Amino acid sequence: MLEFCFEMDSRIKKPVYHMLSHLFYLQIVQTLFGRPIMECAAKGRGDPCFSGRPRRRCGLCGAVAYCSSKHQMLDWNNHREECARLAQQMQRADFLSDFPFSFSVDAEHTELEKWLTRCSFLISIGLHLKPMWICECSCWHGSIYLDNNSRLIDEWSLPSSLCPCSEPRSSIRVHVDSWKDYYLWRCLPFYSPAALILHWPLTVYHCIQLSALQSLISKTSDQLHIHYLGPYKELCQLAAFAELRALIPGVQLHIDFVGPAVPQSRDGETIILDKYAKCSCVSCSCKSSCEDTNMGSCHMKSTVTLKLHRGFYHDKCEYMDSHPDLIIAPNAGIAAYPSWSQSIDLINKISIPAIFTDYCEEAAFLASQCIRAVTGRPLTIPIQVNPFRQPLLMEDQALFLPCYSNCFLFGM
Ligand SMILES: [Zn+2]
Ligand SMILES: [Zn+2]
Ligand SMILES: [Zn+2]
Ligand SMILES: [Zn+2]
Repeated sequence: MLEFCFEMDSRIKKPVYHMLSHLFYLQIVQTLFGRPIMECAAKGRGDPCFSGRPRRRCGLCGAVAYCSSKHQMLDWNNHREECARLAQQMQRADFLSDFPFSFSVDAEHTELEKWLTRCSFLISIGLHLKPMWICECSCWHGSIYLDNNSRLIDEWSLPSSLCPCSEPRSSIRVHVDSWKDYYLWRCLPFYSPAALILHWPLTVYHCIQLSALQSLISKTSDQLHIHYLGPYKELCQLAAFAELRALIPGVQLHIDFVGPAVPQSRDGETIILDKYAKCSCVSCSCKSSCEDTNMGSCHMKSTVTLKLHRGFYHDKCEYMDSHPDLIIAPNAGIAAYPSWSQSIDLINKISIPAIFTDYCEEAAFLASQCIRAVTGRPLTIPIQVNPFRQPLLMEDQALFLPCYSNCFLFGM
């Protein structure tokens, strides 16, 4: 069982809290039990919800949905404070769903039945329940939690033309800052779904670029240590982080993954990613051991080393051997998990730049308030859209805010 805690932290009590924690809660509960829990945005107020999907959306913001007018009225005192803000955030939906891909359009057409969107989309492209994709839909059960499967999953289940399984044809020259630039550089067609997994390493790359631009980390060092907080789904997709070899050539990158979702059996495991995740083409050069020589000697070698640690950062930090240059916490849910306040306090004390991402703007907004409450300072990197957010909507039946994995980022 995961060690997530869903209790309200009185210091950060906010009306939308219940809704956001609901979003995270749903993902985890649904993951554990493999079935949707039908509750409306008034979760936890009054009687249990009417069964079925909540269909009564707030007429002012359209961001939240209720099962009944009774629950809507019960929730109004809480919702009124956030309603206008959520209405503004809803207006950014078109901008956020603007991707260069041909597949994201298909996936979002069925918005009415978001529960089925991810499964049916993955089925339609032949990737449903494939190893690296298994955590991408609601079929993923906590029981298949990699506990007895510590072998690195390193196959894309895609042909070589659709995934970056080998060295880039040209080394990276300028800062890649959009999916379009990345796909063009990596010679991937815009119907390749690889971005659905590559948003993890690309988000790390973007965070590194952003911190270097702001001189928070050194631009010239050939070593980079990152503490990566709260990994969850990416534990099934670790091989994709090998893409950082191509994105940050000539750098020895060490990433420590720390979080309560790391299985006990994998605590302390070290993974050296000296190859890219493999394609499904039998004769592709990514299967041969001397694949790197294709690039010739001019290519600057780099390695990515991952280490897994189970536990909360504030408990594990002092036992970790490396001193980080940068802390990255993807989809952090700072306002939803009270345990974050201790980690933020620690990050503040050790004075390491930290970049967080979250699913939606409201979560980022509430997180920035929590950070300010702990540190007494505003953010060093203001809330902004991550160009490398995952190009597929998150599923939630009571919350209609545009939500994507790694959607908004901000730093302290
Ligand atoms: Zn209800
Ligand atoms: Zn509203
Ligand atoms: Zn599924
Ligand atoms: Zn290949």
